Amino acid sequence: MSGARRPLVAGNWKMHKTAAEAVAWCEEIEGILGVPRAEVAVCPPFTAIEAVARALADAPVWVAAQNVNEHEAGAHTGEVSAAMIAAAGARGAVVGHSERRALGETDAVIAARVRRLLDHGLTPILCVGESLAQREAGETEEWLARQVRACLAHVHVEESARVAIAYEPIWAIGTGRTATPETAQAAIAHIRGVVGERLAAGAMRILYGGSVTPENAGELMAQPDVDGALVGGASLDARSFAAIVHAA
Ligand code: PEP
Repeated sequence: MSGARRPLVAGNWKMHKTAAEAVAWCEEIEGILGVPRAEVAVCPPFTAIEAVARALADAPVWVAAQNVNEHEAGAHTGEVSAAMIAAAGARGAVVGHSERRALGETDAVIAARVRRLLDHGLTPILCVGESLAQREAGETEEWLARQVRACLAHVHVEESARVAIAYEPIWAIGTGRTATPETAQAAIAHIRGVVGERLAAGAMRILYGGSVTPENAGELMAQPDVDGALVGGASLDARSFAAIVHAA
């Protein structure tokens, strides 16, 4: 982690926790988080954003959605807009998570979502990452470059610090097969090089995600280009999430 960038640790709850369960998590984390060196965010399901934002109003934790629609408003049944998540108390959103890309989201749609979030003053946490087959075929660098160039196509250089990227190798998500610190560092340094073709790469935070735990978080985030973590499973438990935050 470079001294120029404050680490960001974000918890992605996926499809877990009702609003009441989410508030219980908030009450627990408030008691153990203290004043962390890292910036901290949590990404509840849409239905719990407002309750979590209210519960964490005095805590050093901001709230992000897990997705957002690219349109301003309109006939998009089942979708949620940037204005809606902002009004509920979110300050950003994850976009392009591999679990969403698997449902058909394209780089072009994700790029439009990044743009929409920035237009609403919200922070995009853009996920990119390769499959195991791509890694084994030696295609990781080319794939990551393509995703990063396409998904950041509508970001202006002066907005660089307002965007975070999460490098999430698909083979590491929810599998317990964490990337080694060296693998994470190499991929993230490569991503930073691609960002730097057009944007201010030194200002943009690039996180690692994929089976991060309290045990491996410190070593991963000690890498020079790893600016924090996007945490799935281990964020569901307030104590293990706090331990990861404290490792940053
Ligand atoms: C994720 O869903 O973004 C993630 C990294 O999950 P996990 O930590 O459970 O691998």
